[in-house]
Amino acid sequence: MTDAARVVIIGAGFGGLTAAKHLEKHDVDVVVIDKNNYHSFLPLLYQVATAGLNPADVGYPVRGLFRRRQRVLFRQGEVTGVDWERRLVHLHEEDDVAFDYLIVAAGATANFFAIPGAERYSYPLYTMSDALRVRNHLLSLFEEADAKPSLIADGILNIVVVGGGPTGVEVAGAVAELVSKVLDRDFHDLDLSVTRVILLERGESLLAPFDPDLQEYTVQTLEKMGVEVRLGTSVTRIAEDRVVLADGSTIPTRMVVWAAGIRAQDVAEELGVERGAGGRIVVEPDLSIPGHEEAFAIGDIADIADGSGGRLPQLAQVALQGGRFAADQILRTLAGESRQVFHYKDKGIMATIGRRAAVTQLAGGATIKGYPAWLAWLMLHLVYLIGARNRFSVMLNWAWNYLTWDTGPRLILSPEEPPPGADGGAGTESAASARGHTR
Ligand SMILES: Cc1cc2nc3c(=O)[nH]c(=O)nc-3n(C[C@H](O)[C@H](O)[C@H](O)COP(=O)(O)OP(=O)(O)OC[C@H]3O[C@@H](n4cnc5c(N)ncnc54)[C@H](O)[C@@H]3O)c2cc1C
Repeated sequence: MTDAARVVIIGAGFGGLTAAKHLEKHDVDVVVIDKNNYHSFLPLLYQVATAGLNPADVGYPVRGLFRRRQRVLFRQGEVTGVDWERRLVHLHEEDDVAFDYLIVAAGATANFFAIPGAERYSYPLYTMSDALRVRNHLLSLFEEADAKPSLIADGILNIVVVGGGPTGVEVAGAVAELVSKVLDRDFHDLDLSVTRVILLERGESLLAPFDPDLQEYTVQTLEKMGVEVRLGTSVTRIAEDRVVLADGSTIPTRMVVWAAGIRAQDVAEELGVERGAGGRIVVEPDLSIPGHEEAFAIGDIADIADGSGGRLPQLAQVALQGGRFAADQILRTLAGESRQVFHYKDKGIMATIGRRAAVTQLAGGATIKGYPAWLAWLMLHLVYLIGARNRFSVMLNWAWNYLTWDTGPRLILSPEEPPPGADGGAGTESAASARGHTR
């Protein structure tokens, strides 16, 4: 480290890494802190969860990204708070890290909305560990059913996905394809046509922010793939062996994937600053934290006004653009220039449903669906994936899977771990009432 200003970045996700990459070329010292030693490319996590890709294809060691940049340091640790007066970041059981400027980019986590049993029994999909947990459990259920077919009557092959946003749609489609095209050929003794993939959405449409035509196409495509889409269906309770719905009916199941909503990471609460919807950190128009002009919040953890009374969505583009913008504001401040106002450039939204099926809505409202949208989705994810090795590996995996329907990573790697909330106290009214509904 030198005598130059030190910028500390909390989180090596899309926002944090973009800020660090922008700052690395300038006369500042940078410290990136993350609780994991790797970056996770979240949009492809569902493919790890459904045995399409390996974890190393969608993760990248943070140190490896900055190995040629002496002035960018990495620190693995979990941030537990900030001493604003002394400008110190506190880490769990580690030494503090001093900063001149701070960028908070710690992202979001699953929101269980106080639904009893949701945190304890369902499987969220927000981290690499989550994805591996889903994969292990999913594949184990098929092995169990093979060993003891009487369990099928108890719902062991009913896979329930809660939440009809992009993640829920992607997971439901990928599980349906995994079962009908891959596992069906693996299990000679088991009739997998009895498998049910059930997608529950409390609203009246899937993919809420998309055009109605794309929503309709998504429902039809999923149904053709064998997914039972149940709209206007709220989950009121989850137990080890069933999901209970608002009308009192139950679905027997041993696997509930939770894709129903997100909230800001806990660290947002620990900073002692103003928070908005979903516990997100309220920011000024220049993305600085009110009362702390040396600190910025970006990406999923930030509550950013969209200029027309709403908030910006929690999407990769918002984090990428915010990361670059916050880095620029720090450089401007150091150069004695005034700060700017953040304007988000909407580039559109997309979601994939399955092989040759995706939906894209461009910023101006134009829509694309089916094969062209799927190709666009593949290309875009390859472009944004971090690391040339990962791009090559993902491309190879996709080509192999496409040609052979033989996904390599369907390994059950460790003794099954329970969902993260399974150690008790989960899903209580008080714990979750503070978390707003963000997505
Ligand atoms: C399954 C899934 C699919 C998605 N698909 C899409 C998509 O197709 N398109 C799209 O635009 N968006 C998608 N998103 C949303 C997108 O990934 C997020 O908007 C984006 O990752 C936000 O970037 P970020 O930098 O704010 O946070 P993140 O990328 O989440 O990074 C936050 C980082 O902070 C670290 N961290 C958290 N807490 C601490 C702490 N206390 N101390 C230290 N480190 C900490 C985390 O380990 C993580 O590395 C998806 C999200 C998920 C979960």
